[in-house]
Amino acid sequence: MSNIIDGKAVSAQVKERIRLETEKLKEQGIEIGLAVVIVGDDPASKVYVRNKKLACEAVGFTSYEYALPAETTEEELLDLVKKLNNDDKVNGILVQLPVPKHINDKVVIDNILPEKDVDAFHPVNVGKIMIGDYNFLPCTPAGVMELIESTGTDVAGKECVVIGRSNIVGKPQAMLLLHKNGTVTICHSKTKNLKEVCARADILVAAVGRAKMITSEYVKEGAVVIDVGMNRDENGKLCGDVDFEDCKDKAGFITPVPGGVGPMTIAMLMQNTLTAAKAQNGLL
Ligand code: NDP
Repeated sequence: MSNIIDGKAVSAQVKERIRLETEKLKEQGIEIGLAVVIVGDDPASKVYVRNKKLACEAVGFTSYEYALPAETTEEELLDLVKKLNNDDKVNGILVQLPVPKHINDKVVIDNILPEKDVDAFHPVNVGKIMIGDYNFLPCTPAGVMELIESTGTDVAGKECVVIGRSNIVGKPQAMLLLHKNGTVTICHSKTKNLKEVCARADILVAAVGRAKMITSEYVKEGAVVIDVGMNRDENGKLCGDVDFEDCKDKAGFITPVPGGVGPMTIAMLMQNTLTAAKAQNGLL
């Protein structure tokens, strides 16, 4: 039986650390604000935005929520982003993706000030992550790193395999593991012998989006297995990319879905907002 990594507990520790630091900053007269902008009424996005608001309250940030109708034009959204860029009360800006199809999300991200881009999606921040000189960490991969650290595993010299090469998860994940001196392989839909490549991994991160694709044959005995996937199984139940029941006895450590990576993403967003506020107040 492997050790199950409790994402909720690790995320609670991270948020408590942030809450204490926020309290100290308040004593120095520094209030932290996060603006969350949502366009349209995608139900999943609404849930994420609500969770972000609750997390802000829990750590002592002020959250500014902007719920715009689906027919909002790109120009109107850019006007709001510019207003938030110039608002000193707002330390971090997050535009919930996806935005409706008539709005170009790249243009919107490009217009967020890199210093306030707490999702770390702006090309300047992506570039900084590439060269290892960064303040903002991409939230989901950063959460994965915290979970790996919580197991006491030292990434240096380990065989790390990341399945998935998206800009928001796979690629930055590989980069963060590389910065910690892992030997990193990135797999994707064209990878040959995926099973064999994965079975070499001391640390396996699955970010694919295919329910229960990773069975025990993909897992090396004792490996750390991190499941980023959020999918629905045949009964409509939330599940990951990893077949948890099949892998849990072979892995050394494994994250469940739900309760693994998910709670970490929002905790790392809070961390980035705190970092942004410190940097904007000359405290970094
Ligand atoms: P994308 O769809 O952008 O990327 C999926 C990646 O998986 C692609 O690189 C794709 O390869 C690869 N892939 C697809 N099929 C296979 C296959 N059969 N074998 C090997 N590789 C394959 O997804 P995201 O990165 O945005 O998200 C991945 C998963 O993580 C999703 O389930 C998403 O819901 C979840 N997620 C969870 C978060 C959380 O907070 N827990 C946050 C963000 C995402 P190719 O590039 O060749 O197409």
